[in-house]
Amino acid sequence: MTTESPADLVLTGGRIATMDAARTWASALAVRAGRIVAIGSDAAVQEHIGPSTRVVDLRGRTVTPGFQDAHVHPVHGGLARLRCELHDARGRAAYLAIVAEHARSHPDEAWIRGGGWSMDDFPGGTPRREDLDRVVPDRPVYLPNRDGHSAWVNTRALELAGVTAETPDPPDGRIERDPDGSPTGTLHEGAMDLVGRFEPDDTPADLEDALHLGQRYLHSLGITAWQDAIVRPETEERAYVALASRGELTARVVGAMWWERARGAEQIDEFVERRAAMSIGRYRATSVKLMMDGVLENFTGAMIDPYLDADGRPTDNRGLSQIDPDGLQTWLPRLDALGFQAHFHAIGDRAVRESLDAVEAARVANGPSDTRPHIAHIQVIHPDDIGRFRTLDVAANAQPYWACHEGQMDNLTIPFLGDRWRWQYPFRSLRAAGAVLAMGSDWSVSTPNPLLEMELAVERVSDDSRGRKEPLLPDERIDLVDALAAFTAGSAYVNHLDDTGTLEVGKLADLAVLDRDLFDRGAGAIGEARVVATFVEGTAVFEDPAFEG
Ligand SMILES: [Zn+2]
Repeated sequence: MTTESPADLVLTGGRIATMDAARTWASALAVRAGRIVAIGSDAAVQEHIGPSTRVVDLRGRTVTPGFQDAHVHPVHGGLARLRCELHDARGRAAYLAIVAEHARSHPDEAWIRGGGWSMDDFPGGTPRREDLDRVVPDRPVYLPNRDGHSAWVNTRALELAGVTAETPDPPDGRIERDPDGSPTGTLHEGAMDLVGRFEPDDTPADLEDALHLGQRYLHSLGITAWQDAIVRPETEERAYVALASRGELTARVVGAMWWERARGAEQIDEFVERRAAMSIGRYRATSVKLMMDGVLENFTGAMIDPYLDADGRPTDNRGLSQIDPDGLQTWLPRLDALGFQAHFHAIGDRAVRESLDAVEAARVANGPSDTRPHIAHIQVIHPDDIGRFRTLDVAANAQPYWACHEGQMDNLTIPFLGDRWRWQYPFRSLRAAGAVLAMGSDWSVSTPNPLLEMELAVERVSDDSRGRKEPLLPDERIDLVDALAAFTAGSAYVNHLDDTGTLEVGKLADLAVLDRDLFDRGAGAIGEARVVATFVEGTAVFEDPAFEG
């Protein structure tokens, strides 16, 4: 026995991926008062075992630092699970069956809501209102798609919102129309709001329920911390503050406060106030979300050169810059000087470049800073910009689950990019150029299961087409250890959670226990591995009977 008091928890006999700088391995670790007090061989932790220490034999299974999701929407993921959840279904008929059943079992709901359909399941990516009218004729239906950039609505919803053939497209969006101009039932980007603004508000209780549900689900997947990619004062932020002030927020959360694109510098003072007032318990409001563009599938992603048409000829459409790049040249240096992190959404190569240019303006004005700006999504990066991630100290925040051949990619993206399709999701090139790589899911857009996402980073083939499809741009595959580093140390860096992300003496005991040796590649696909226990500061926030069984 040491002279110190004994450990609360000791794990032995495992394959512990410490993810420290040298990527060392250990077989055992000991935790006391929430921190790792020893890590190494089984013998090295023996002296920390006392009469009340919980000791678990890992039997060769992998332990990793707790996963951290660098871009996720847990309140919305939770809400979707409370409503018409279409993410797990495929095809028009399956979607309509879920909507019909939800309407039948929720006769009191004034609106039918939820979402998660895939554009790939409809001709041209645009579903029609008549289909929804057949299952819900009397109540408005409003269903955003999987990526949240388009919505499927019924006729009742369009009537209620007064959207007709005469309604002009808003400047930041588009109403899908028949040849006579009448709306078909799909609304893109800013046009979603024509109907969406009539939706009843989510009550604070709805949002708290959703966050509880989202948190439980993410813990069950080994996730101990995340960055919420959009927090607004009256919705997500209110839910985080409510849970945090009651001690119910077990995850560590960084909130990325939504930059309202219709406003300018005047909102910066509000961010300063919110950061001071709303950072409670494990919640910190220290990041600002800058939504630079849309998505490629509906041609709202901002491209340097125009999209091609269906015959491969250039159009005059280069997508949308959602935030004025000239304004950003002055706003970003101010945010950086005030210590705010910039969290960019950038899909097209022009959006990525405008993000990097804004950070460059901040670097020129302020010199180096520790704000750790990051660009999420990074679907198309112009080759000239890859090296700038390192030189400007910008982390690449990848959503690897999208890096594969699937319907939206093959039918709605590649044909309209031409040769530029090869610039998509260049994870290995970013690593080779020295960029810091973080990862996230964008749940509820995609599965929040980090093991499935790591499989795609390594294989570039989706888990539902294993062995059937070619990898997407196989030269951009990365090694499992690099994918794991991105989901642990890389995302911890982006989250400024420097006491987490690796398993080392003195660090917080945030960790995940898997059901197998993850690095034994004979053990099946990476995404088939399961989490059996998740700990935050040494306390179990998820535990499956298989953990000790
Ligand atoms: Zn997102």
